[in-house]
Formats: sequence, structure tokens, C-alpha cells
Amino acid sequence: MFMHNKRLQYTVRVSEPNPKLACMMLEQFGGADGELAAAMRYFTQGLAEEDPGRKDMLLDIATEELSHLEVIGSIVTMLNKGVRAQLSEQQKAEAELYQMVGTSSTSVKESILFGGGPALMDSAGVPWTAAYVDSRGEPTVDLRSNIAAESRAKIVYERLIGITDDPGIKEALGFLMTREIAHQKSFEKALHSIENNFPPGKLPGVDPYTDMYVNASQGEGDMQGPWNSGEQWDRIDDLNEVLPADTGGDGTASVKLGPGDGAAMAKMVTRLKSDPSKDPMTGSDLGAGPGAGRTTKGDMGASQDIHQATRDAEKAAKAERSESADAQ
Ligand code: MN
Ligand code: MN
Repeated sequence: MFMHNKRLQYTVRVSEPNPKLACMMLEQFGGADGELAAAMRYFTQGLAEEDPGRKDMLLDIATEELSHLEVIGSIVTMLNKGVRAQLSEQQKAEAELYQMVGTSSTSVKESILFGGGPALMDSAGVPWTAAYVDSRGEPTVDLRSNIAAESRAKIVYERLIGITDDPGIKEALGFLMTREIAHQKSFEKALHSIENNFPPGKLPGVDPYTDMYVNASQGEGDMQGPWNSGEQWDRIDDLNEVLPADTGGDGTASVKLGPGDGAAMAKMVTRLKSDPSKDPMTGSDLGAGPGAGRTTKGDMGASQDIHQATRDAEKAAKAERSESADAQ
């Protein structure tokens, strides 16, 4: 069960309201790397976890992330307090209110639709989505994803710290950023407390592809480093010798079809057979105007004839009209 303590995990002191900054802070409230995504990621992983140590850690961290959600949500609320009060009581002149609400499109949505409360959306007003949680139910995979998620959250906090001069906000964000560093360390330890955690999952890699480096992009800019050269790697520079020979096949794709499918496939292939000996006129030849490039050569005469015929018909109609006008 959850219980709530009325004190925040970190004291929030905001110097003055600032709706625009509030919108930027939403990135860590309802954004891809925000606290709600973190809490839901670890909470759902923790519920399904069988290992008692990992389960305990995941639920501890999930619950702390909810406390972070509360801290960042409180910052957003403080930053929006002025606009919330003014929208509710409408004490300011229309132009002033307009300016206050409309510092950004997100601030308009947050003010008008959500009344200045912390909304579950990111800094661009995109609603939070469970698609931010990418758990796969295998700890050697999910712990790696969690490590990456914590490092993303760390860097987003770093950027947010860089865009505000408010010392109280800077301090609170510094706390939240640092807790993500601590979480990353816990996840790293949990990953490496699983013996044989690489490759992830149960199946081993197939020899000899685990040590193969394919220099698939060749030309100027080719470089060598420990990621593609040295004792650990069998480096392949000649792309002709890569796969087909090794796999004992001819490098094509094949499948055995049942008799019904085979007959249908043969009919389809016959019906859709292309004839490279023909060079027919096409719609692009008929409609060709300036800038069309080369059109079908053999039929160019026909194409011009069509335009000529149109012009002739127009000329004849014009002459007929002027003749009948003369007659009257
Ligand atoms: Mn957090
Ligand atoms: Mn965290």
C-alpha cells in the first residue's frame, strides 16, 4: 500500500512566478524522461520481478520517483501561481493577462485548459504516454534500459538547471539530478550482480558472429579503434567475403510453398510479367510540358500530334465564332 507524507522530499523555494519556465519544467513532470515515466517504469518492473532483492530495489526507487514527481510538480505549481490566480479572479487588464498566459503555446494550453496546475504533458504540450516505458520483462534487458533512462533524466535536469537563475529551483533540480546519478549506480550494481548478464537473455550468440566487425561503410573517414580492431575483433574489409559463403548458402532467400500457394504464385507471376522489348507511350509522355525531361522517343511525334490537334481544334472553333459574328 502507498502512504503519503505531507513533507516534500526536498524543500521547494521558488523566487517568483514564471509561466514560461513552468512549461519547461513540465519536461521532467510528464515528458519522455520525466518522473512519471520513471515511476511507472520501475513500479511495473517491480510488480513482475521474482528476485526479492531486485523487487525491493525497484519498488523503493519507483516510490522515490513519485516523490520526485511531487517535487517537480510543486515547482511547476509555484511558477504558475500568479497566472492561476489572475485567470481565476481576472484582476489584471486584458492585455497584461494575455501576455502572461501566452508566453508560449504550451503555456496557453496549461493556463487555459489546465488552469495553471501541473499537467501530465511535456514542455511542448504533448500528453504523457505509456510508450515512454520500454520494459521487456527480462532484468538483463530492463536494467540496461533503466541505466540509460537515469542517464537521460540526469542530462535533462542538467539542461533545466542551465536555463534558470532562480537559486531555489536550481538547488531543488540539483537534488533531483543527483538522485538520478544514485539510481544509475544502483541499477548498474543490480545488473552486474547477475552472473553472466551479457549477452542479455538465455541464448548464447552464434559463432563466429559475436566477434565479427563488418566495415560496411567504406571510403574516406574509415577509422580504427578498440570498437572494431584488435584482438577482440575479426574485422572484415572485403564485403564480398562476408556472409553467403559462411552460411553455406547462396545468399538468396527461399521458402517452400504448399501446392495451392505454388499454383497461385505461378499465375500471379505470369499475369504481372514485364516485357522489356516494348517501349510504350505513357501518361507522362502525353502530359509532358516544359521541364518534363526526355519523353518516349519513338512516340514523340504522336505526343506532338496530340498537342497540335488540340491547337488546331481551338483555332477552328475561334474562326467559326468570328465567322458567325461577321454574318450577324
Ligand atoms: Mn527521479
Ligand atoms: Mn531515478
